[in-house]
Amino acid sequence: MSANLRFIDVAFHYGSVPVLDQVSLDVPTGSFVALIGANGAGKTTLLNLACGTLRPSLGHVELDGANLATLPATQRARRVALVPQSLPIPFAFTVRELVSLGRTPYLHPLRGERPDDRLAIERALEITDTARFAHRNVLELSGGERQRVILALALAQEPDLLLLDEPTANLDIAHQLAILELIRELNRVAHLTVLAAIHDLNLAALFFERIVTLDRGRIIADGPPRAVLTPEIIGSVYGSAVQVIDHPSEPVPLIALLRPTEHGTRATAPGSDHNHDWPRHGGTST
Ligand code: ATP
Repeated sequence: MSANLRFIDVAFHYGSVPVLDQVSLDVPTGSFVALIGANGAGKTTLLNLACGTLRPSLGHVELDGANLATLPATQRARRVALVPQSLPIPFAFTVRELVSLGRTPYLHPLRGERPDDRLAIERALEITDTARFAHRNVLELSGGERQRVILALALAQEPDLLLLDEPTANLDIAHQLAILELIRELNRVAHLTVLAAIHDLNLAALFFERIVTLDRGRIIADGPPRAVLTPEIIGSVYGSAVQVIDHPSEPVPLIALLRPTEHGTRATAPGSDHNHDWPRHGGTST
């Protein structure tokens, strides 16, 4: 399984609003990469470009040397799966029915599920710990349960490249660790290439060997956690004061947040009317 993702001098605008600029990024097969950056930095947009649902305004995105824009949609869907921050679910699907949609790129229009489809669905349910509520209505699940079901849907696709947008956002700490451990294991064992947008810097440090940092649409740091998660870089990206210490039992940094009022940094919340120095493009996150 090979999935070498490359962004070559990519710019992206929503209409006239520039979001990404001069983004060049190599994610070789088997990489496990975190994407960090403040709200509105362009992480979701970058992930959508990586799966081909958006096309660059300038430059191009390649998968194994082929321009993603020229790959037929079915072929793209067999190779790349995106786990979005949330997925609008219009019908009262059962968990299994929703996860089985991950097999759509493999189904013949006149044939139903085949044994390999059923196997992929059962496996995705099993490893995301969602098999035990496979027959429940998705709309009745908690946010965290639903997030694991959306991951199962993506895994049922059996992709080579897995893109995750805040995979731990609705999860309790046990499930945050379990999901990242699971994805790490899929990366190690099945060489699944992973690019994940993540806000929790300590989880990023703990699980990812490489962290790419977006700031207002540009990559401003790219390297191992110790090189990227410094007080200087974090201060410049988030405008927040932090102290970086050693993790007590892992060879990674640990980021301690400091209260803004006591350290001369921004005291207003992102998006607040009083927050005139907030350095985003404006607008909301996805
Ligand atoms: P967050 O951490 O809040 O999820 P992000 O880094 O993922 O943010 P994006 O969702 O990529 O950021 O958004 C980048 C910028 O593009 C933001 O200013 C956002 O308002 C804008 N944007 C996103 N989607 C659209 C859209 N469909 N139309 C216009 N502007 C958009």
